[in-house]
Amino acid sequence: RRARAAACATAPAVTRDGTTVAVGANVGSVADARAAVARGADLVGLIRTEFLFLGRDTAPDTGEQEAAYREIAEAFGGRRITVRTLDVGGDKPLPYVAAAGEDNPFLGVRGIRHSLAHPALLADQLLAIALVARAAPVSVMFPMVSTVAELVHARRMLTEAIARAGGDEGGLRVGLMMEVPAAALKAAAFAPYADFFSVGTNDLTQYALAAERGNAAVAALADGLDPGVLRLIDAVCRGAGGRVAVSVCGELAGDEAAVPLLLGYGVRELSVAPRAVPVVKEAVRAAGLDHATKLAARALQLEDAAAVRDLAANAPHR
Ligand code: PEP
Ligand code: MG
Repeated sequence: RRARAAACATAPAVTRDGTTVAVGANVGSVADARAAVARGADLVGLIRTEFLFLGRDTAPDTGEQEAAYREIAEAFGGRRITVRTLDVGGDKPLPYVAAAGEDNPFLGVRGIRHSLAHPALLADQLLAIALVARAAPVSVMFPMVSTVAELVHARRMLTEAIARAGGDEGGLRVGLMMEVPAAALKAAAFAPYADFFSVGTNDLTQYALAAERGNAAVAALADGLDPGVLRLIDAVCRGAGGRVAVSVCGELAGDEAAVPLLLGYGVRELSVAPRAVPVVKEAVRAAGLDHATKLAARALQLEDAAAVRDLAANAPHR
């Protein structure tokens, strides 16, 4: 199975009934991007740009960022790359940005909140992204968005960056991560301002189940297959209403058992760790959308993640 997955790596992932699902990679360095190409990734669904900002004394300037994003775009040879704006703050402070101590950093100034509080940093990053977007298909994605006002504010800054970059938008698409439960539930309110939603199941699960990610003592609770989390993903897809593309870039997308469920809710793009690309493509090829839709609906009625896993493991593929 593994050998077959490797052989099929670069072929597109098409369900039994002929629907193509893009399988992208999450990357946190230029080296990751090269590994992802080798594993057959169709695109980059998430660049964790923190790698450029952490572990140093000053912020990378626009030129340094532009060079790194361009290198990733070039490694992907014309396929789309999704650049997430800086997702720091709270538990990942930057030494060169003054930050107030917080008792609950995961509920504090992180993601888009941090970027809007430090607009010069965001403006530089958006300019770098806009410059790369003139010559390559680029999507920009904002993390930890809770309100439409945050998205509108960030989009206004993006418009300014595009003007500074020469006014040519290229094929730039704009989206937000769905990782705050309230945002997922009101997804329809974001739809007029977004080309895509990307569900970040790592944070969405942490916030939905009130179980800190990375805390071993509550790791069993923080399961993305919990029906409460699946209801949020379903809500994102319904809020998207077929007009906004929905992808999943959290760890759940790399879980073979979850793939048919996600397709059943309406997700048509998955982005996973580079090493998981081949098996996720195989999971897509094994799925039929009709069956997946029924399976996904049944999962919403179950009582816990274990029951969802049983359902997924025991359901025939068609
Ligand atoms: C997520 O939260 O699911 C996600 C993909 O982002 P990160 O893991 O970088 O927070
Ligand atoms: Mg996240």
